[in-house]
Amino acid sequence: MAVHVVGNVALDTTFRLARFPEPGETVNAASASVALGGKGANQALAALRAGAQTWLWAALGQDSEAEAIRRGLAREGLGDRFLTALPLPSDRSSILIDASGENQIVSAVACARAYDPLSVGWANIAQAGDSLVLQGNLGMDVTRVMLDAARSASCRTVLNASPLADGCSMPLGADVVIVNRGEAAMLTGERDPTEAARALIAHGAGSAVVTLGGAGALVLSGGDSSPMRIPARSVRAVDTSGAGDVFCGTLAARLSLGDALGRAAQISGAAAALAVTRAGTFGCGPSAAEFQAILE
Ligand code: ADP
Repeated sequence: MAVHVVGNVALDTTFRLARFPEPGETVNAASASVALGGKGANQALAALRAGAQTWLWAALGQDSEAEAIRRGLAREGLGDRFLTALPLPSDRSSILIDASGENQIVSAVACARAYDPLSVGWANIAQAGDSLVLQGNLGMDVTRVMLDAARSASCRTVLNASPLADGCSMPLGADVVIVNRGEAAMLTGERDPTEAARALIAHGAGSAVVTLGGAGALVLSGGDSSPMRIPARSVRAVDTSGAGDVFCGTLAARLSLGDALGRAAQISGAAAALAVTRAGTFGCGPSAAEFQAILE
């Protein structure tokens, strides 16, 4: 049962600074570094390390950044079989991290927005029982069409509705919808995470997972009236960027390997807690060996 992570891959430039700039202000960073990222790539690597056969479906440019991206994916064992080269600049992000480990992120996602996985044969490759994992970086129409295609192919659908597109809407007809607390509130208008999870299900999600940062996560399965609380492991946060991606990729992998949603969320929370103790996004979660220790 393969996990198809269909999303974006990007080069991230991370700036570490004492505090975020105010509007109009320039702040000198203590350091800057370039690394692989993009929610699709981050989640694919987390799924791979969590034990699932994983394919990353994504578009990149035909520039030097694309070469760096291909090398970075290959280093981690993510194949380039389903990467599509487009005549566009490769996607990039700037990540600001302040002294407390909080982050602010700006992304340019031309490749992701132009990408159409069906035009490069996704429906011919996906098998019944496979999983499709989507994030918010693809075009909204592509997201909608992919959810339909996955349903037709009898694939499980996992949608991490992040980042939210303009207007804060998103097709929510997926088997599992995962959002953080802020996204849950923006999507549903409900500030209370339990009410937000109920609203996500009312809008078409089979089950809803609301991640709550250092407070863990809340899981509401369709048909259940009360959510399951998944407490966070107590860790010293160094960099929270990428934690949500580790959570989502791990969750998709564990569901595909047969775990129930609650157990999958517990394992994903443990993997994500490790991710916040490390800098970066791509590969900030547990290695395959560390992942085995989480399972024990
Ligand atoms: P996002 O990164 O998408 O904003 P969250 O901040 O909610 O998502 O984090 C995703 C998951 O990562 C949480 O559900 C939790 O399991 C884990 N996590 C995040 N921050 C911490 C933290 N400070 N301590 C422990 N676990 C954390």
